[in-house]
Amino acid sequence: MSKMKVRFAPSPTGPFHIGGARSALFNWLLARREGGTFLLRIEDTDLVRSTRESEENIKAALKWLGMDWDEGIDVGGDNGPYRQTERLDIYKEVTDRLIAEGKAYYCYCTEEELEAERQAQLARGETPKYNGHCRHLTEEQRAAYEAEGRKPTVRLRVPLNETVAFDDMVRGHVSFESNGIGDFVIVKSDGIPVYNYAVVIDDHTMEVTHVIRAEEHLSNTPRQIVIYNALGWEVPTFGHISLIMGKDGKKMSKRHGATSVEQYKNLGYLPEAINNFLALMGWAPEGEQELFTTEELIKNFSMDRVAKNPAVFDIDKLNWI
Ligand code: GLU
Ligand code: ZN
Repeated sequence: MSKMKVRFAPSPTGPFHIGGARSALFNWLLARREGGTFLLRIEDTDLVRSTRESEENIKAALKWLGMDWDEGIDVGGDNGPYRQTERLDIYKEVTDRLIAEGKAYYCYCTEEELEAERQAQLARGETPKYNGHCRHLTEEQRAAYEAEGRKPTVRLRVPLNETVAFDDMVRGHVSFESNGIGDFVIVKSDGIPVYNYAVVIDDHTMEVTHVIRAEEHLSNTPRQIVIYNALGWEVPTFGHISLIMGKDGKKMSKRHGATSVEQYKNLGYLPEAINNFLALMGWAPEGEQELFTTEELIKNFSMDRVAKNPAVFDIDKLNWI
């Protein structure tokens, strides 16, 4: 097997949350343990919410926690650039290929038309999905829409009647039916790729072998696999780690304590203690040991002891460290 390559791919849209730090840590520990590569990519396709300030904040927090990256933003590598807004030419080339091969097509439907169709499907008791209106447009029809000034999106032609399955490192066997998906947008009308599309092109071209990320992305994975298949690319191994919950069973929020890495730093916590605390949220080491230096975490960490159920945020554990 080729050498392990993992990545951390944050969206720089706000303070660096401890949930993000935990995803980064799991990837970093694996890379260090396996002698692999840890890469840092900035996912800034949300042009409205992404800021350089947030990017700087994430990088500073990773450095403070001791998570050095081998490839990616600031340190380079052969497969960059590593900021998505600087990779638009790469995405465009792939899109042109998909369209030429008939695996994707331009869709001229307006928001209003799509919404009207959605309502009609709901009224018929169906689960809404794109109805394929633009699947087989002729050149004349396209030209007419262009003449009206409509700006098309690009949709992937999703094959029907296929079962797509994968084995998740945390969640086990996951399978889904392609019929439920419908042809979905991969490039918006302003030419910016959607997250699911950019992430596949990036993970493939950057030769990522293992994608370890938060559970909230589990529902995106089917679409990503459909994209890999359309491109004939090998699908990486996925591992979706559970969300962090408060002791009350609710999603971790400010009510439960500090949520950003910066806040913990300002409160005077030590980076090693934070890493220990983050690693033990959702990962059960063998034996009774609860205090680990970062070196010990590297030696002991493994994905097969990462729990499926939500990780519980218990500040007492951190204070005790
Ligand atoms: N940029 C995504 C996020 O911050 C992560 C995407 C991924 O890891 O695939 O949630
Ligand atoms: Zn359409």
